[in-house]
Order: sequence, then C-alpha cells, then structure tokens
Amino acid sequence: MLEDKFGRKFYYLRLSITDVCNFRCNYCLPNGYECDHDRDFLTVPEIKRIAKAFAEMGTEKIRITGGEPALRKDLPEIIRTCKQTPGIKTVALTSNGFKLREHLPQWLDAGLDALNISIDSLDPRQFNAITGKDKLDEILAGIDMAFARGFNNIKVNTVLMREYNLHEMQSFLDWVKVTPISLRFIELMQTGDNKEFYDKQHVSGQSIKDQLLKTGWLPIHRGKTAGPAQEFAHPDYKGTIGLIMPYSKDFCNTCNRLRVSSLGKLHLCLFSEQGLSLKDHLQTDDTEALKLHIKSLMFDKKATHFLQDGFTGGTKHLSMLGG
Ligand code: SAM
Ligand code: SF4
Repeated sequence: MLEDKFGRKFYYLRLSITDVCNFRCNYCLPNGYECDHDRDFLTVPEIKRIAKAFAEMGTEKIRITGGEPALRKDLPEIIRTCKQTPGIKTVALTSNGFKLREHLPQWLDAGLDALNISIDSLDPRQFNAITGKDKLDEILAGIDMAFARGFNNIKVNTVLMREYNLHEMQSFLDWVKVTPISLRFIELMQTGDNKEFYDKQHVSGQSIKDQLLKTGWLPIHRGKTAGPAQEFAHPDYKGTIGLIMPYSKDFCNTCNRLRVSSLGKLHLCLFSEQGLSLKDHLQTDDTEALKLHIKSLMFDKKATHFLQDGFTGGTKHLSMLGG
C-alpha cells in the first residue's frame, strides 16, 4: 500500500494526459494555451504501466484530467486501458465538456464510471466571459444526454469568484433542486500566474457552508477514494452540493491522492515545488522497479501545502497538472 510518513494512504491517482487546452478560463489560462516545452505526453503503453504499478500499490481510482483531456484523440483508449487494469475500480474524467454530446458515447463504451464537468456560470454570457467560449448550452445538452442514456454519475465543478458567479448562488441551487448532479463549489486557488486575479476574486466557501447548514442541508459521509469535497444533501433536492476548501484548516489531513503529469512526473502535492520524473521507468514492463521508484519518492511528501502563506510551489496554473 502506498503510504506516506504521516500515515496517509493513497487510493486515488489523478493522471494528466495533456496540458493543452482550448478554453481560456480567466483563473487558469486567461491568454489561452502557450506551449513552453516539447509535447512529449504520456503514451498509452506508458499510461498502462503507470496504472498497473499504482493499482498494485493499492490505488483504486484514476481520474483522467488535463489541460483538456478530450483534446487527445486516443482518450477512449486511455479510459479503456485504465479500466482494464486489475485493481482499478473507478475511472473518472474531468473535462470542460466541449463536444460532450459527441464524445460521451465513446467514453462510456470504453468503461468510464464518473464524469466531472466544469461549469462556472449558468448564464451563457457570463460563461463566455469566464471561459472565452460560447458553449454553455451545448455542455448542458451533453449532460442531459448523459442522463437520457442512464449515466448519472456526474459532478459539476464550479470555481467560486466574487465578481463572476457569487451572485448566481440561487440559480445553482435551483438547478440542483431538479437535477441529480453533485455540484462542487471550489474555492479559487492562487497559482504562480494568477495572484492579482486571486486577490480580487477569492471567496471562502465557509459562508456557503454555514448557509447550507442553516437551511436543512446535512453532511454526507466521505468514502476512502472520495475527492477533497465536503458533501451535503437535502431531502428536497435531487442533487447534492460539495465544497472544496483548500484553505481550510486540516484540508491536507485527509489527502488520499497523488498526481502524475502529462510529462510523466509524479507530483506529491498540487503545489509541490517540482514533479519527480518517472519517465526512465516507463520504458519497459518492469513494474517492480517502477513501484520501488515511486515508493522511494513518497518520503518527500509534505504534511501540507503552504497556500495560505501564498506559496504556490512550481504550479503556474492548474492546466499544468489537472487540479
Ligand atoms: N480542462 C478540464 C476542466 O476544466 O474541467 C480539466 C482540467 S482543470 C485544471 C480541472 C479543474 O480545476 C476545473 O474544474 C477547473 O475549474 C479547476 N481549476 C483550474 N484552476 C483553478 C484554480 N486556480 N482554483 C481552483 N480551481 C481551479
Ligand atoms: Fe482549460 Fe480547464 Fe484550465 Fe479552463 S480550467 S483553461 S478548461 S484547463
């Protein structure tokens, strides 16, 4: 079992397969994607070796992320590869949802178990102002199509921003009332590139949590491969609400996840100083050597990030690693 020196166990791998993105989210890539390295992204055989090694060390869930993972034409093959790895029970995907309707059937055929779609506003014009894309209606239609096909393991990620979507809280709640999604409000995180934006837009999730608890929402128990959200349910609502509050005290105590970047580097934390390359060990099927290498790197995992002190490590924006 993969464990760190603080006794935390790692059941959950976030695997980035590209850092390229076609959106320009104002908190992530406001100027669009700018490439500053070779596009030497993990190949399917390399992904297969990573999945096998992690699964043999106790990983049960892989979340495929990016950049925008749907930009890779071999995404269905990647999903299938992860899903066919013995020990992996859940394959999830985080996507901005562009062309969701077109892609979803192939992803489901490949064995996708869970889908996170990022929607920061339910107002098409505001959505466009945040992402640079006039795609909200298409994305919502994709979610409807998923429900129509009987797939309803869908989470929606919404990054809280003071001036862009805080005023939409009631629209989000109205949507959750009638839609069986799990909507997660994520506190905006500071990264190397967004300090000014962060200073203006960051809002704590605590006031939302207080409001939920005051209005009949009840906390839901957290499973061992659960993500970082605190989740709440309400008897009058079809969906649930999650809050991801990385600045809250004790956020890192329940860390159960590790990350591998699209360049094949292990990141012990979203905000670590640098990635630790696995590449040399991904060129052969020597799973034992890869596992030993990963275990030797675990020693450096820190107890917590230092985000509250403005320390963002080597992470310029989350498109680099997948959030
Ligand atoms: N492109 C895909 C998407 O947007 O869903 C996957 C990658 S994206 C980096 C993963 C998640 O991180 C998205 O839900 C996005 O909104 C969130 N994210 C990106 N930058 C963030 C930041 N600075 N603070 C909080 N969440 C952020
Ligand atoms: Fe792209 Fe996702 Fe970053 Fe938006 S949050 S720019 S969709 S990687």
